Amino acid sequence: MDITSSLHKAAEIIKNSQYLIALTGAGISVESGIPDFRSAGGLWEKYDPAVYAHIDSFRQNPEMIWEMLFEMIELTKNARPNPAHLALAELEKKNILKALITQNIDNLHQEAGNTNVIEFHGNAHRLECLVCHHEMPVESTDFGGKPPKCPRCGQIMKPQVVFFGEMIPPDALMESQMLANSADAILVVGTSAVVYPASSIPYIAKQNRAKVIEMNLEQTAITGSITDVFIQGKVGETLPELLEIIFA
Ligand code: NAD
Repeated sequence: MDITSSLHKAAEIIKNSQYLIALTGAGISVESGIPDFRSAGGLWEKYDPAVYAHIDSFRQNPEMIWEMLFEMIELTKNARPNPAHLALAELEKKNILKALITQNIDNLHQEAGNTNVIEFHGNAHRLECLVCHHEMPVESTDFGGKPPKCPRCGQIMKPQVVFFGEMIPPDALMESQMLANSADAILVVGTSAVVYPASSIPYIAKQNRAKVIEMNLEQTAITGSITDVFIQGKVGETLPELLEIIFA
């Protein structure tokens, strides 16, 4: 199917849906300058995510992991929502998109205007202490070039993001599963759909007969199995195109 036909088919599904949800991944923020795990020359080429995004590494050597975290937080603080984020915010504003589950930790959906956002992997704009569980926003912290320490107990703090080897926040997991059970259509945007358990969300939705619309630069693990409509391309272009058709 060519891209125009795919966009029209997806628009039809969305217009007929009663409960549309979205699952987004790192790909939606690439056009905002935040690299996904595959982007050449990006953060993750310098820092192997299997090491630097693993909780065991943080526990063993937080100073080393903070070298990467300083760069990651700087990237997310400077990034701005792109047309793909804005399109999803518009869909929520028009009461078409009921909820958005994101694996991203960059806060860009919230900055674009989405209010019903389930942060599946947390948010890099908050810090937490692994020892006494004190939390604080990143903005209020003057790092002074050193890993921030907990004002209560003095331990090195960690961004409130889910590292490999950590549990998904139970509320986010439960709410996402409930949404996937309620949805009659799901937009799966810019995710390789391999990081479990986020990758199970489209399968749960599909089991409940939801239509699966997938938007990605390339085919993924779900394209040949559960995807009903695949829209190939940069989501900063294809999502606004989809909205134009929906609102035409
Ligand atoms: P991933 O890196 O595994 O996959 C990204 C997907 O996006 C790929 O399938 C790629 O083809 C696609 N993509 C890249 N640019 C695109 C574009 N412009 N338009 C359309 N598609 C595009 O990402 P994932 O599936 O989200 O899993 C990686 C994990 O890493 C997630 O759990 C996430 O928490 C974390 N992560 C988050 C960020 C962020 O917050 N922005 C960035 C990197 C990694």
